[in-house]
Amino acid sequence: MSSLLITNGYLVTLDEANRFIANGSIYIENNHIIEVGESSAIQRTADRTIDARGSLVMPGLINAHHHLYSTFARGFSPPGSPAHNFEETLQKLWWKLDMALDSDDVYYSALLALMDAVKAGCTTVIDHHASPSCVDGSLDQIERAFRDVGLSGCLSYEVSDRNREGEGIEENERWIRKCRESGDGQMSALFGMHALMTLGTKTLERSAEIAHVLDTGFHVHAAEDEIDVRLTMERHGRQIMDRFQDFGIPGEKTVFVHGSHLDAREMELLNSTGSMLVNNPESNMNNGLKVSPILDFLQHDVLTGVGTDGMSPHMISQARAMYLHQRAEQRDPTIAFVEACRILLENNRSIANRLFNEPRGALAPGQLADIMIPDYLPFTPLTADTFYGHLLFGLSYARVRTTIARGRVIVDEGRLPQLDEDAIRARCAERAPRIWDRIQ
Ligand SMILES: [Zn+2]
Repeated sequence: MSSLLITNGYLVTLDEANRFIANGSIYIENNHIIEVGESSAIQRTADRTIDARGSLVMPGLINAHHHLYSTFARGFSPPGSPAHNFEETLQKLWWKLDMALDSDDVYYSALLALMDAVKAGCTTVIDHHASPSCVDGSLDQIERAFRDVGLSGCLSYEVSDRNREGEGIEENERWIRKCRESGDGQMSALFGMHALMTLGTKTLERSAEIAHVLDTGFHVHAAEDEIDVRLTMERHGRQIMDRFQDFGIPGEKTVFVHGSHLDAREMELLNSTGSMLVNNPESNMNNGLKVSPILDFLQHDVLTGVGTDGMSPHMISQARAMYLHQRAEQRDPTIAFVEACRILLENNRSIANRLFNEPRGALAPGQLADIMIPDYLPFTPLTADTFYGHLLFGLSYARVRTTIARGRVIVDEGRLPQLDEDAIRARCAERAPRIWDRIQ
């Protein structure tokens, strides 16, 4: 058994009572939190004690939609004329990049992205992967990166017909079965699919049949751009959510991503089936696309989360982007602030807790010991009433001093002591230009 004690921190527990403890301690054994309270009340000794004096202590953040492989695109501009629309963005950049990855690239791009994520206080990542030149076993490479860094991951391969009919179905099936069998809780699985615009009827039927036999949910882009809506209507005479419903894809374990062009009736269908919807505001804005209408989703009582879609490792900046976008678009300075914070802290937690067996997202006994300690103590009052202001205006720019994932200290005073960061970054710096060359 290993034990860890965090003392003298300003605890933001996000527990059921939403307790803020000005001088608090947390006692951890193995992967889980055992005790939380005033430092004076917790008399424990542990293998290691972290003095969090001068810092906030809060639950680790959750990224509800990522593409770890996109790491190697940072700084890259596709050759030729710039993409003018979403379809060209996929064709000129993402589908060339993912095709150029070999299985070592899959590992290293995930490793680098997860190192960045954990340094930004993120401890759980829900990933959506594609690497058509090395489909089989690609999710094992990503798993290896998760285990090397120490975070929890929910993985899926994005099935599509764009290169080969049903590409990725077997990889999802294999991964889901492996997760069930290994069963240590760190990794989980969803059945991944790209989007209806790249999925034919036969592939949808096969995917749905396998996922239903395995009793798993799906992870799929939905109505990210109008082209997905238009092609689905032209080819099948169906709206997006109706088409998904035809194959039994909505449900309580299914994550739909974006949903920017879903109408009120489709949102109602998300709600009535208990499906989850993850928005990615920075990604939509970067692509010049309509941003997911988060307030409409919330009004329809849809469990709405937030991800980065590969844009960045920073989750708090996604919450900023959510509310800033809503205010700019609707010219209303009163909206979306509280909702954006709740989406990040409460809804992402609810999503993760549907996909993983171990509960997380609060500092409370029995919870997974996923904790971030940012270098931040405010010079103005910090209470339940003021916390969201600190989150979006202060914590968003704070350095993360320590990150604990699954009870292990992963980031220690800003460094990753279990990994040779310089060597990994050097390997990545060698690999990325080779990938860029392959895309020219
Ligand atoms: Zn995505």
